[in-house]
Amino acid sequence: MDDVKPDTGASTDRTPQTPRDPMVVIEGVNKHFGDLHVLRDINLTVGKGEVVVVLGPSGSGKSTLCRAINRLETIESGAISIDGKELPEEGKPLAELRADVGMVFQSFNLFAHKTIRENVTLGPVKVRKKSKADADKQADVLLKRVGVEAQAEKYPAQLSGGQQQRVAIARSLAMGPKVMLFDEPTSALDPEMVNEVLDVMVELAREGMTMIVVTHEMGFARKAADRVVFMADGQIVEVGTPQDFFTNPRSERAKDFLGKIL
Ligand code: ADP
Ligand code: MG
Repeated sequence: MDDVKPDTGASTDRTPQTPRDPMVVIEGVNKHFGDLHVLRDINLTVGKGEVVVVLGPSGSGKSTLCRAINRLETIESGAISIDGKELPEEGKPLAELRADVGMVFQSFNLFAHKTIRENVTLGPVKVRKKSKADADKQADVLLKRVGVEAQAEKYPAQLSGGQQQRVAIARSLAMGPKVMLFDEPTSALDPEMVNEVLDVMVELAREGMTMIVVTHEMGFARKAADRVVFMADGQIVEVGTPQDFFTNPRSERAKDFLGKIL
């Protein structure tokens, strides 16, 4: 690309810098649901190790964008690539493709009839063709990392919502994803459990995971986001640093949105 501006660090221009080492490149993406133009010419590049928080009112297309990145939704035009490879990739099974893009939803989506450890080992064994022994070892490491190692033999219903969501994160990580998508991961949790999940996400960000996070948790955005993307009516309306966006939103839509949630 010729138009990449050097990052001098001194710029007051808030046009989004194109990250030098892109992990996710979304170009000219459009999608309709019937008459509803749910994604309107979406362009966004997320750099390796970057954390992008996506904000916006309900119905603005945030979940659809996440699902499109993970190929749970088709797109009508444009292109999405992960680590230089456009999806869907020729000859690569969709399951494997999706394994590169971890996704954690609002609802925990664990397999109810599998133990916590089995929830984490299933994908690596089936999709990544790991041996059961290796997958078990990895699961124990990951469950420890998210602080639920003591629950490994239990079933999802025996865990709190916060614990289940941390298992969902461990399960995604077990696939060795290149990027993690989080779609309102704490919205369904009791308030006292929100932080235990956000803490795991902050830690993941610190370790250098590339993350796209849809959340209304402004504390997380301030602490962990490199950039904030504000969506409304299927469009990206603003992109900026958390500092810029929260203190000086430019658009009326963003001012209105922040006025309601802050
Ligand atoms: P957000 O996550 O920002 O709340 P969504 O991406 O879930 O927004 O939805 C954007 C719009 O698309 C909403 O108006 C929603 O009702 C609509 N929508 C989402 N999924 C579908 C679907 N499968 N069929 C039809 N309309 C949908
Ligand atoms: Mg949503």
